[in-house]
Amino acid sequence: MISEKMYELGSQRSVIREIFEYGNQRKKEVGEENVYDFSLGNPSVPAPKAVNQAILDILNTEDEVAIHSYTSAQGSEECRSAMAKSLNQRFGTAFHANNFYMTVGAAASLSICLKAIASPEDEFITFAPFFPEYRCFVESAGGKLVVIPAKEDDFQIAFDLFEKAIHEKTKAIIINSPNNPAGTVYTEETLQKLVEILERKQKEYGHAIYLISDEPYREIVYDGYEVPFLTKYYANTFVCYSFSKALSLAGERIGYIIVPDEMEEAKKVYLAVCGAGRALGYVCAPSLFQKVVARCANEVSDLSIYKKNRDLLYEHLISLGFECVKPQGAFYLFPKALEENAEAFCERAKKYDLLLVPGTGFGCPSHVRISYCVTTKQIEKAMSAFEKLAEEYGHSRHM
Ligand code: PLP
Repeated sequence: MISEKMYELGSQRSVIREIFEYGNQRKKEVGEENVYDFSLGNPSVPAPKAVNQAILDILNTEDEVAIHSYTSAQGSEECRSAMAKSLNQRFGTAFHANNFYMTVGAAASLSICLKAIASPEDEFITFAPFFPEYRCFVESAGGKLVVIPAKEDDFQIAFDLFEKAIHEKTKAIIINSPNNPAGTVYTEETLQKLVEILERKQKEYGHAIYLISDEPYREIVYDGYEVPFLTKYYANTFVCYSFSKALSLAGERIGYIIVPDEMEEAKKVYLAVCGAGRALGYVCAPSLFQKVVARCANEVSDLSIYKKNRDLLYEHLISLGFECVKPQGAFYLFPKALEENAEAFCERAKKYDLLLVPGTGFGCPSHVRISYCVTTKQIEKAMSAFEKLAEEYGHSRHM
């Protein structure tokens, strides 16, 4: 016998993957340059030169056995100290190596945190639109995911609905800012209000309610927006970070968890994180990339390309009459589809070889996600396809 739950997870259709596979097939038929694939969140700009240089330097100068050896389960002291130093310089925090647990990216960071704190029947609240994998991670840890509907005018938090949903069984709140798929950055005002509610509810129920901050897009922000550093606002915060996006290292699988000293029973929680890492088989993140990020913690890829892409595509969609909250970060646009059913809209988009992802899995069934982490040339070429698609709905371009 196998686990029915795991079988279900493995065989369920992943909408994004399916669109991606369809795109690969279509590329064979009509040529790669004629398919406008906006489905995946894979960074489209190379990692900075400093990353390649760091790899070469490490290979040329460090012990040839140690480079590929195990480190401590939670990551090498050298790497964790470098993480602490970088954040302390950039955000005025006071972290040290023992606040960090190195992981294979944000997905692992989240899975470990959830496993470390979940007891049966615990509830985990998140806000639509949300990264669909949260459901899988939360349920695998034995918890239940509760989704608060989106506040569609700005994709900040619908606090009235949130306050009604939070109760004694609430173990943690998962937030993601900058957000996939909406690109929204939570304002300081939103975060202060969230923290005020959490502090009040913790007192009322007499137990910790954790904030799990999923931050793989932390550095990808535009127009001078800043992402407030959450441990400064709320003591019971786990930070789940990844180098997948801003450093374009998605395939290398490297990130971390922070358990701040200010968290209630921080040492015990950190050990629970170590235990969860062990139970999930996530000990010792890749050694070479621990060394690389230790040297490149302050680097980012050329993010200006994403801003250029966002501006081009956003302006174009608005000129075609799409409704879209202007994203302040990440590399996604999340407009309303031009018909009620976003799945039907995405099917129709395929006619023009435009591959878009319906918002259903993100908790917003009338929206579509457009990943603009592609070449600027693809965006320029896709503009007439968007125009033709909009024309089908009686929308014409206005300047
Ligand atoms: N969280 C969000 C919001 C994401 O968009 C992603 C990846 O797209 C992840 C987590 C997983 O990131 P990683 O590749 O670091 O595991």
